[in-house]
Amino acid sequence: MTRLTGKTPKRRRPLLWLLALALLGTACTAVFTTQLTDSPAAALAAGQDLLSQKTVLAIVAHPDDLEWYIGGTLRRLAEGGANVQVIVATDGEKGPNRTKSPNLAATRRAEQAAAGAINGYTHIFSLALPDRGAAKDPRFLPEVERLYHEVKPDAVFVFDPTYPSLPYLHVDHQGSAREFLKFWNTLGADKPPVYLFQTRRPDAGVDISGVIDTKVRALAQHVSQNGGSGENMRGFFAGAGKSVGVGFAELFRVLRK
Ligand SMILES: [Zn+2]
Repeated sequence: MTRLTGKTPKRRRPLLWLLALALLGTACTAVFTTQLTDSPAAALAAGQDLLSQKTVLAIVAHPDDLEWYIGGTLRRLAEGGANVQVIVATDGEKGPNRTKSPNLAATRRAEQAAAGAINGYTHIFSLALPDRGAAKDPRFLPEVERLYHEVKPDAVFVFDPTYPSLPYLHVDHQGSAREFLKFWNTLGADKPPVYLFQTRRPDAGVDISGVIDTKVRALAQHVSQNGGSGENMRGFFAGAGKSVGVGFAELFRVLRK
C-alpha cells in the first residue's frame, strides 16, 4: 500500500541519484564537447571565405602550435598565393626535449623554420619570450601590435580563449589570445575578422583533405617534441572533418566585431 506522505520512498532515492548524475553528465558533455554552431554547409562556406584572404597573421605561443592546429589552413592559404605571416611568442623551452638538445630553444626555433618552409609561411616572427609567461610579459602585446601594423592582415588567427576545446589548455595559448583581443577590440569598424582555433564552438571549417600529408610532414619537423612523427594528429582532424562532411578539416570560431 502506498502512503500518501508526499515524500519519495527511500528505496527509490538511489535511482533518483543515478538519474541526476546521468543528466549532469549529459549537460557536461553538451557544454564541453566540440559542437558546430552552424550547419556543415555554412561552416564550409565560411571556411572557403577564409581561404580568399590575401594577407593573414597567425599568433601562437609555441613552435608546433601552428602546424598542429592550423597547419592545413595555412598551407592552403599559401598555395592560393596568400601572404602568410606568423608570430611564435616563445621558443618552447619548457616543453619536452626528446632529442636531448643542449640548447632546446635554438633547436625548437630551427624546427619551426623547417616546418614553416614546408607550409609556405612568408615570415616567422620569433619573439623569444619566456615559455609559461609570454602572454603576461609586458613585451608581448606591444610587439604584437607593432607587427600587426606592419603586416596589415586581412584576417588574424589566435587560440579561442573563451570556448577552448579540451582537454589541453596552456596559459600562453588562451592568454596570448586574450591579450590580442584586448587590442583588436580597440580597432575601428573595419577591423579584420579573427579566426579562433582550438575551439569547441566552431562555425567555420576548412577542408584540409588535400594537404593532410603536408600537414603531417610539417608537424613532424618538431622532432624534439614529437620524435619526428605527426601521424597522431590525423585522427583528431579526421573527426573534425566528419563534423562538416569531408575527410579532414580544421575548425574555427569567427569573430567579426
Ligand atoms: Zn603550445
